[in-house]
Amino acid sequence: MTNAHLAEGLFKLAESQPPGEERLALLRAAYAVWDHPRELAGVRRLPDTIPLEALATVTLLHRARGEDALAAVVARLAGPRRAGGAATRSGFLSAAQVGEILAASTLDPRHLRGAAHFHTRASDGVGTLEAMARACQRRGAEWAMVADHTRGLACVNGLDAEGVAIQRRAVAQWNRRHDDTWLVQGLEVEILADGSLDLPRSARHEVAVIAAVHTGLEESRDQTSRLLRALEEPGVWALAHPRGRLFARRGGVRANWEVVFAAAAAAGVLLEINGFPRRQDLDAPLVKVALAAGCDFLLASDAHHPRHLAYDEWALAIAAQAGLPADRIVNFAPRHRLAEWGIGGAG
Ligand SMILES: [Zn+2]
Ligand SMILES: [Zn+2]
Repeated sequence: MTNAHLAEGLFKLAESQPPGEERLALLRAAYAVWDHPRELAGVRRLPDTIPLEALATVTLLHRARGEDALAAVVARLAGPRRAGGAATRSGFLSAAQVGEILAASTLDPRHLRGAAHFHTRASDGVGTLEAMARACQRRGAEWAMVADHTRGLACVNGLDAEGVAIQRRAVAQWNRRHDDTWLVQGLEVEILADGSLDLPRSARHEVAVIAAVHTGLEESRDQTSRLLRALEEPGVWALAHPRGRLFARRGGVRANWEVVFAAAAAAGVLLEINGFPRRQDLDAPLVKVALAAGCDFLLASDAHHPRHLAYDEWALAIAAQAGLPADRIVNFAPRHRLAEWGIGGAG
Protein backbone atom coordinates (compact mmCIF):
# COMPACT_ATOMS: atom_id res chain seq x y z
CA MET A 1 0.00 0.00 0.00
CA THR A 2 1.39 3.37 -1.02
CA ASN A 3 1.47 6.76 0.67
CA ALA A 4 -0.95 7.91 -2.02
CA HIS A 5 -3.51 5.30 -0.86
CA LEU A 6 -2.89 6.06 2.81
CA ALA A 7 -3.23 9.82 2.23
CA GLU A 8 -6.42 9.34 0.22
CA GLY A 9 -7.92 7.33 3.09
CA LEU A 10 -7.07 10.20 5.46
CA PHE A 11 -8.53 12.80 3.09
CA LYS A 12 -11.76 10.78 2.95
CA LEU A 13 -11.89 10.56 6.76
CA ALA A 14 -11.24 14.31 7.05
CA GLU A 15 -14.06 15.00 4.61
CA SER A 16 -16.39 12.80 6.61
CA GLN A 17 -15.93 14.99 9.70
CA PRO A 18 -17.67 18.31 10.33
CA PRO A 19 -15.35 21.36 10.43
CA GLY A 20 -13.34 21.34 13.64
CA GLU A 21 -10.13 20.18 15.22
CA GLU A 22 -10.52 16.50 14.38
CA ARG A 23 -11.04 17.24 10.71
CA LEU A 24 -8.06 19.61 10.69
CA ALA A 25 -5.77 17.04 12.32
CA LEU A 26 -6.81 14.42 9.75
CA LEU A 27 -6.17 16.86 6.91
CA ARG A 28 -2.72 17.71 8.28
CA ALA A 29 -1.99 14.01 8.61
CA ALA A 30 -3.10 13.38 5.03
CA TYR A 31 -0.77 16.08 3.71
CA ALA A 32 2.08 14.87 5.91
CA VAL A 33 1.79 11.40 4.37
CA TRP A 34 1.33 12.73 0.86
CA ASP A 35 4.40 14.98 1.19
CA HIS A 36 6.61 12.37 2.84
CA PRO A 37 9.59 11.64 0.56
CA ARG A 38 9.63 7.85 1.04
CA GLU A 39 6.96 5.16 1.05
CA LEU A 40 5.79 4.34 4.57
CA ALA A 41 4.68 0.77 3.90
CA GLY A 42 6.54 -1.48 6.31
CA VAL A 43 8.21 1.23 8.38
CA ARG A 44 7.93 0.90 12.16
CA ARG A 45 7.93 4.56 13.08
CA LEU A 46 5.60 7.02 11.38
CA PRO A 47 7.11 10.44 10.60
CA ASP A 48 6.73 13.08 13.31
CA THR A 49 5.19 15.47 10.77
CA ILE A 50 1.93 13.62 11.50
CA PRO A 51 -0.03 15.54 14.17
CA LEU A 52 -0.34 13.67 17.48
CA GLU A 53 -4.14 13.99 17.49
CA ALA A 54 -4.29 11.91 14.30
CA LEU A 55 -1.54 9.42 15.08
CA ALA A 56 -3.84 6.65 16.35
CA THR A 57 -5.98 6.85 13.18
CA VAL A 58 -2.95 6.92 10.89
CA THR A 59 -1.55 3.89 12.70
CA LEU A 60 -4.77 1.92 12.12
CA LEU A 61 -4.77 2.80 8.43
CA HIS A 62 -1.05 2.12 8.13
CA ARG A 63 -1.50 -1.40 9.51
CA ALA A 64 -4.15 -2.29 6.92
CA ARG A 65 -2.85 -4.88 4.45
CA GLY A 66 -3.91 -3.92 0.98
CA GLU A 67 -6.40 -1.48 -0.52
CA ASP A 68 -9.54 -3.42 0.41
CA ALA A 69 -8.50 -3.66 4.05
CA LEU A 70 -7.71 0.06 4.02
CA ALA A 71 -11.14 0.87 2.55
CA ALA A 72 -12.76 -1.23 5.29
CA VAL A 73 -10.91 0.67 8.04
CA VAL A 74 -11.84 4.00 6.46
CA ALA A 75 -15.50 2.94 6.27
CA ARG A 76 -15.45 1.89 9.93
CA LEU A 77 -13.86 5.15 11.15
CA ALA A 78 -15.82 7.50 8.88
CA GLY A 79 -17.78 10.38 10.41
CA PRO A 80 -21.29 11.55 9.51
CA ARG A 81 -20.52 13.49 6.35
CA ARG A 82 -20.48 12.16 2.82
CA ALA A 83 -17.01 12.29 1.26
CA GLY A 84 -17.08 13.43 -2.36
CA GLY A 85 -13.87 15.28 -3.14
CA ALA A 86 -11.78 12.42 -4.50
CA ALA A 87 -12.04 13.65 -8.12
CA THR A 88 -9.99 16.78 -7.40
CA ARG A 89 -7.27 14.64 -5.77
CA SER A 90 -6.77 12.06 -8.48
CA GLY A 91 -4.00 12.28 -11.06
CA PHE A 92 -1.44 13.80 -8.66
CA LEU A 93 1.86 12.25 -7.57
CA SER A 94 2.79 11.87 -3.92
CA ALA A 95 6.31 12.94 -2.95
CA ALA A 96 7.31 9.29 -2.56
CA GLN A 97 6.09 8.52 -6.11
CA VAL A 98 8.16 11.40 -7.45
CA GLY A 99 11.27 9.88 -5.87
CA GLU A 100 10.55 6.43 -7.26
CA ILE A 101 9.79 7.66 -10.78
CA LEU A 102 13.03 9.67 -10.87
CA ALA A 103 15.08 6.79 -9.48
CA ALA A 104 13.89 4.63 -12.40
CA SER A 105 14.24 7.32 -15.08
CA THR A 106 17.06 8.39 -17.38
CA LEU A 107 15.97 12.01 -16.83
CA ASP A 108 18.32 13.09 -14.06
CA PRO A 109 17.62 16.19 -11.94
CA ARG A 110 21.39 16.71 -11.64
CA HIS A 111 21.52 17.36 -15.38
CA LEU A 112 19.04 20.24 -15.27
CA ARG A 113 20.79 23.46 -16.35
CA GLY A 114 18.00 25.93 -15.79
CA ALA A 115 15.67 26.74 -12.88
CA ALA A 116 12.53 28.45 -14.06
CA HIS A 117 9.44 30.28 -12.95
CA PHE A 118 10.00 31.38 -9.39
CA HIS A 119 8.64 34.32 -7.43
CA THR A 120 10.21 36.96 -5.21
CA ARG A 121 8.95 39.46 -2.68
CA ALA A 122 8.21 41.77 -5.61
CA SER A 123 5.01 39.72 -6.06
CA ASP A 124 3.83 36.93 -3.76
CA GLY A 125 7.12 35.16 -2.97
CA VAL A 126 8.92 35.43 0.38
CA GLY A 127 12.54 35.77 -0.79
CA THR A 128 14.35 38.69 -2.34
CA LEU A 129 15.66 38.33 -5.89
CA GLU A 130 19.15 38.02 -4.42
CA ALA A 131 18.09 35.23 -2.03
CA MET A 132 16.32 33.29 -4.77
CA ALA A 133 19.26 33.73 -7.16
CA ARG A 134 21.69 32.49 -4.51
CA ALA A 135 19.49 29.47 -3.84
CA CYS A 136 19.50 28.66 -7.59
CA GLN A 137 23.27 29.12 -7.59
CA ARG A 138 23.64 26.69 -4.67
CA ARG A 139 21.55 24.18 -6.61
CA GLY A 140 24.02 24.49 -9.47
CA ALA A 141 21.70 26.23 -11.94
CA GLU A 142 23.51 27.61 -14.98
CA TRP A 143 20.57 29.93 -15.67
CA ALA A 144 17.58 30.92 -13.59
CA MET A 145 14.37 32.64 -14.60
CA VAL A 146 12.44 34.79 -12.17
CA ALA A 147 8.77 35.12 -13.13
CA ASP A 148 6.90 37.44 -10.78
CA HIS A 149 3.26 38.29 -11.39
CA THR A 150 2.26 41.44 -13.21
CA ARG A 151 -0.22 43.69 -11.49
CA GLY A 152 -3.40 42.52 -13.13
CA LEU A 153 -6.82 41.53 -11.94
CA ALA A 154 -5.55 38.36 -10.35
CA CYS A 155 -2.66 39.66 -8.34
CA VAL A 156 -2.74 42.93 -6.44
CA ASN A 157 0.85 42.31 -5.31
CA GLY A 158 2.16 42.14 -8.85
CA LEU A 159 4.80 44.28 -10.52
CA ASP A 160 3.80 47.48 -12.27
CA ALA A 161 5.93 49.07 -15.02
CA GLU A 162 8.21 50.72 -12.47
CA GLY A 163 8.60 47.47 -10.54
CA VAL A 164 9.54 45.64 -13.73
CA ALA A 165 12.19 48.28 -14.49
CA ILE A 166 13.62 48.09 -10.95
CA GLN A 167 13.81 44.31 -11.17
CA ARG A 168 15.47 44.54 -14.60
CA ARG A 169 18.27 46.63 -13.08
CA ALA A 170 18.64 44.13 -10.22
CA VAL A 171 18.88 41.25 -12.72
CA ALA A 172 21.53 43.13 -14.73
CA GLN A 173 23.47 43.90 -11.57
CA TRP A 174 23.46 40.23 -10.53
CA ASN A 175 24.64 39.22 -14.01
CA ARG A 176 27.53 41.71 -13.86
CA ARG A 177 28.70 40.23 -10.56
CA HIS A 178 28.21 36.51 -11.17
CA ASP A 179 29.19 34.36 -14.09
CA ASP A 180 28.07 30.95 -12.84
CA THR A 181 24.29 31.50 -12.60
CA TRP A 182 22.81 33.75 -15.28
CA LEU A 183 19.54 35.42 -14.32
CA VAL A 184 16.76 35.87 -16.87
CA GLN A 185 13.82 38.18 -16.26
CA GLY A 186 10.47 36.61 -16.94
CA LEU A 187 6.98 37.71 -15.97
CA GLU A 188 3.96 35.62 -15.14
CA VAL A 189 1.31 37.48 -17.07
CA GLU A 190 -2.42 36.99 -16.59
CA ILE A 191 -4.55 35.75 -19.48
CA LEU A 192 -7.68 37.89 -19.18
CA ALA A 193 -11.22 36.59 -19.72
CA ASP A 194 -11.13 37.36 -23.47
CA GLY A 195 -7.68 35.79 -23.93
CA SER A 196 -5.75 39.07 -24.14
CA LEU A 197 -2.79 39.63 -21.79
CA ASP A 198 -2.51 42.12 -18.96
CA LEU A 199 0.93 43.26 -20.19
CA PRO A 200 1.08 45.78 -23.05
CA ARG A 201 2.78 44.54 -26.22
CA SER A 202 5.47 47.19 -25.97
CA ALA A 203 6.62 45.74 -22.62
CA ARG A 204 6.86 42.15 -23.79
CA HIS A 205 10.03 42.09 -25.84
CA GLU A 206 12.38 42.64 -22.92
CA VAL A 207 11.11 39.80 -20.72
CA ALA A 208 10.22 36.12 -21.11
CA VAL A 209 6.43 36.19 -20.94
CA ILE A 210 4.89 33.24 -19.16
CA ALA A 211 1.14 33.50 -19.70
CA ALA A 212 -1.26 31.90 -17.23
CA VAL A 213 -4.90 31.76 -16.23
CA HIS A 214 -5.74 32.42 -12.58
CA THR A 215 -9.33 33.65 -13.03
CA GLY A 216 -12.53 32.09 -14.33
CA LEU A 217 -11.21 28.63 -13.45
CA GLU A 218 -14.40 27.29 -11.94
CA GLU A 219 -16.49 27.96 -15.03
CA SER A 220 -17.97 24.95 -16.71
CA ARG A 221 -17.84 26.49 -20.19
CA ASP A 222 -15.19 25.35 -22.65
CA GLN A 223 -12.26 27.82 -22.65
CA THR A 224 -10.44 26.72 -25.79
CA SER A 225 -10.98 30.08 -27.51
CA ARG A 226 -9.58 32.02 -24.53
CA LEU A 227 -6.37 29.96 -24.62
CA LEU A 228 -6.11 30.13 -28.44
CA ARG A 229 -6.42 33.90 -28.33
CA ALA A 230 -3.64 34.05 -25.69
CA LEU A 231 -1.39 31.89 -27.88
CA GLU A 232 -1.93 34.32 -30.77
CA GLU A 233 -0.71 37.24 -28.65
CA PRO A 234 2.77 38.32 -29.73
CA GLY A 235 5.66 37.71 -27.35
CA VAL A 236 4.37 34.73 -25.35
CA TRP A 237 7.25 32.41 -24.45
CA ALA A 238 5.43 29.77 -22.42
CA LEU A 239 1.96 28.80 -21.29
CA ALA A 240 2.12 28.28 -17.51
CA HIS A 241 0.11 25.69 -15.57
CA PRO A 242 -2.26 25.40 -18.57
CA ARG A 243 -5.20 23.89 -16.69
CA GLY A 244 -5.07 25.93 -13.50
CA ARG A 245 -6.05 22.92 -11.45
CA LEU A 246 -5.33 22.81 -7.70
CA PHE A 247 -5.05 19.67 -5.59
CA ALA A 248 -8.22 18.98 -3.55
CA ARG A 249 -9.70 22.27 -4.75
CA ARG A 250 -10.54 22.39 -8.44
CA GLY A 251 -10.01 20.54 -11.68
CA GLY A 252 -9.16 23.65 -13.71
CA VAL A 253 -10.36 24.91 -17.08
CA ARG A 254 -12.13 22.79 -19.64
CA ALA A 255 -10.66 23.00 -23.12
CA ASN A 256 -10.01 20.99 -26.23
CA TRP A 257 -6.39 20.33 -25.36
CA GLU A 258 -5.42 18.77 -28.68
CA VAL A 259 -6.42 22.00 -30.41
CA VAL A 260 -4.68 24.17 -27.79
CA PHE A 261 -1.46 22.14 -27.95
CA ALA A 262 -1.42 22.14 -31.76
CA ALA A 263 -1.73 25.94 -31.67
CA ALA A 264 1.08 26.19 -29.08
CA ALA A 265 3.35 24.04 -31.25
CA ALA A 266 2.54 26.14 -34.33
CA ALA A 267 3.18 29.39 -32.45
CA GLY A 268 6.41 28.06 -30.88
CA VAL A 269 5.06 28.59 -27.36
CA LEU A 270 6.47 26.24 -24.73
CA LEU A 271 4.11 24.31 -22.49
CA GLU A 272 4.89 24.40 -18.82
CA ILE A 273 4.97 21.39 -16.55
CA ASN A 274 4.41 23.09 -13.24
CA GLY A 275 5.93 20.98 -10.49
CA PHE A 276 4.44 22.80 -7.51
CA PRO A 277 3.02 19.77 -5.67
CA ARG A 278 -0.49 21.24 -5.34
CA ARG A 279 -0.55 22.07 -9.08
CA GLN A 280 1.26 19.32 -11.10
CA ASP A 281 -0.01 20.96 -14.26
CA LEU A 282 0.30 19.65 -16.98
CA ASP A 283 0.12 16.06 -15.76
CA ALA A 284 1.56 13.05 -17.59
CA PRO A 285 -1.52 12.14 -19.71
CA LEU A 286 -1.73 15.69 -21.09
CA VAL A 287 2.05 15.90 -21.57
CA LYS A 288 1.74 12.88 -23.85
CA VAL A 289 -0.95 14.63 -25.89
CA ALA A 290 1.22 17.76 -26.11
CA LEU A 291 4.28 15.74 -27.08
CA ALA A 292 2.32 14.13 -29.92
CA ALA A 293 1.20 17.61 -31.00
CA GLY A 294 4.88 18.62 -31.39
CA CYS A 295 5.23 20.86 -28.35
CA ASP A 296 8.38 21.66 -26.40
CA PHE A 297 8.36 22.05 -22.63
CA LEU A 298 9.42 24.21 -19.71
CA LEU A 299 9.80 22.64 -16.27
CA ALA A 300 8.80 25.03 -13.49
CA SER A 301 9.07 24.89 -9.73
CA ASP A 302 6.76 27.92 -9.27
CA ALA A 303 8.81 28.46 -6.11
CA HIS A 304 7.54 31.10 -3.69
CA HIS A 305 10.33 30.26 -1.22
CA PRO A 306 13.96 29.14 -1.79
CA ARG A 307 13.00 25.72 -0.43
CA HIS A 308 10.41 25.31 -3.20
CA LEU A 309 13.04 25.32 -5.95
CA ALA A 310 13.26 21.53 -5.52
CA TYR A 311 9.77 21.28 -7.02
CA ASP A 312 11.30 21.22 -10.47
CA GLU A 313 11.91 17.55 -9.59
CA TRP A 314 8.14 17.02 -9.42
CA ALA A 315 7.93 18.51 -12.92
CA LEU A 316 10.76 16.25 -14.06
CA ALA A 317 8.97 13.19 -12.63
CA ILE A 318 5.85 14.10 -14.63
CA ALA A 319 8.03 14.45 -17.75
CA ALA A 320 9.59 11.06 -17.02
CA GLN A 321 6.18 9.48 -16.49
CA ALA A 322 5.08 10.82 -19.88
CA GLY A 323 8.21 9.53 -21.62
CA LEU A 324 9.39 13.01 -22.57
CA PRO A 325 12.89 13.11 -24.09
CA ALA A 326 15.38 15.58 -22.57
CA ASP A 327 15.87 17.41 -25.87
CA ARG A 328 12.27 18.64 -25.76
CA ILE A 329 12.81 20.32 -22.37
CA VAL A 330 14.37 23.79 -22.27
CA ASN A 331 15.71 23.28 -18.72
CA PHE A 332 18.29 20.83 -20.05
CA ALA A 333 19.65 23.47 -22.46
CA PRO A 334 22.91 25.16 -21.46
CA ARG A 335 22.93 28.92 -21.20
CA HIS A 336 24.71 29.46 -24.51
CA ARG A 337 21.93 27.64 -26.35
CA LEU A 338 19.02 29.55 -24.84
CA ALA A 339 18.75 31.83 -27.88
CA GLU A 340 17.62 28.77 -29.85
CA TRP A 341 14.82 28.47 -27.32
CA GLY A 342 13.72 32.05 -27.80
CA ILE A 343 15.55 33.63 -24.87
CA GLY A 344 17.59 36.61 -26.03
CA GLY A 345 20.71 38.21 -24.62
CA ALA A 346 22.30 34.91 -23.69
CA GLY A 347 25.78 36.07 -24.68
ZN1 LIG B 1 0.42 31.05 -11.53
ZN1 LIG C 1 3.86 31.38 -10.53
